[in-house]
Amino acid sequence: MPNTHAPPHAPADSAIQSLVDQAARTLNIRDDTVAVLRSNYRETSVQIPVRRDDGSMVVAHGHRVQHNGARGPYKGGLRYHPDADLTEVRALASLMTWKTSLLNLPFGGAKGSLQIDPAQFSRRELEALTRRLAISLSHVLGTHRDIPAPDVGTDARTMAWFMDAYSSRRGYSPAVVTGKPIELGGAPGRTAATGRGLAYVLGAFAQREGWDLAGRRIAIQGFGNVGSWVARELHLLGAHIVAVSDAFGGIHSSRGIDVAELLRTTSSGGSVTDTDSLDDRIASGDVLTVDCDILVPAALGGSVTADVAARVQAELVVEGANHPVTPDGDEVLRERGIPVIPDILANGGGVTGSYFEWTQNIQQFTWSEQQFSETLRERMTAAFAQVAEVAETRGVTLREAAYLIALGRVAHTVELRGYV
Ligand code: GLU
Repeated sequence: MPNTHAPPHAPADSAIQSLVDQAARTLNIRDDTVAVLRSNYRETSVQIPVRRDDGSMVVAHGHRVQHNGARGPYKGGLRYHPDADLTEVRALASLMTWKTSLLNLPFGGAKGSLQIDPAQFSRRELEALTRRLAISLSHVLGTHRDIPAPDVGTDARTMAWFMDAYSSRRGYSPAVVTGKPIELGGAPGRTAATGRGLAYVLGAFAQREGWDLAGRRIAIQGFGNVGSWVARELHLLGAHIVAVSDAFGGIHSSRGIDVAELLRTTSSGGSVTDTDSLDDRIASGDVLTVDCDILVPAALGGSVTADVAARVQAELVVEGANHPVTPDGDEVLRERGIPVIPDILANGGGVTGSYFEWTQNIQQFTWSEQQFSETLRERMTAAFAQVAEVAETRGVTLREAAYLIALGRVAHTVELRGYV
């Protein structure tokens, strides 16, 4: 049976907590409101027992943390990763609250996980795990309650199984998850939206700074959905992708990697290290410190530590992943004068695209990919402009500015809704 056992007052992750506390102090937010923002609304942990293809049994653990729903239904991805325990999911859920608020979407923040390595499971086993997870969490989800989406280790296929299992219990519910295959109500443009959104934000930054992105040298850590779309979009803008990595290693080319060849290799299931072009092989971690102009960490959290930050050669860091720069790493980058475009802005194109998909599902209407991408560009550019403006007028970093905007909106909504 699903079991909602974790204390709802358990704190979110301390790194994000200190950003929240700092913004709350600057904004003079009431203590009782801060107490609401510091804790999660609901944490649900479920046991997922599934029979493996060889007849043995596996008992996986699933979580869904709903951080804050003052601005709308909870929203956030489902991550399949062995390290995605309750502590990590709490941090990611809180990030989603600030991300949806910063992008001014009518959603709250949540995150879910299944603590497995998907590479260790067959397709049938993954389907069984996903269906069981959807049914076990179905009592806390819903089109107007909580809407999962893909994240690390999950994709459109996962969302299709999830929607089908949920709908088998609750009736046809395409809007209960986003990031679905197009044939099942997915929105053309959603898969590209995180990487494209990052490119739009970077374009807005470049315009403000008077930079030309053409010819800029980019290093990307992680080549999943976000990293690969960032490479494609920035290559189209004339930038040179000089280094990329995935879990198997990295490649480097000072004249620019052949992006078309790289995407052909990886879209057929290969690693970036399988590419045929004559690039140098480097260790995965070294992609963070290669000679480049812009670094995009787009793998997992915590990769840019203080030690790495001291060796970063880029002039700008753009967070494609969620919290890839640690608080110590952030401090070192600040001291070195290297700006960081924070995750809740830089990768907010994904959930913004999810919002477009959700509204289309509810209206049973479809936008063209062009309309999707143009609206995404408008929203990402507007969010960047607000963050840059606050950063400039208050003399704070882009991350601090983003939290000031996001927290101010959520706090105001919490107060408007009132307390008993
Ligand atoms: N997993 C993505 C994120 O971290 C997308 C979440 C969503 O679309 O709900 O932003």
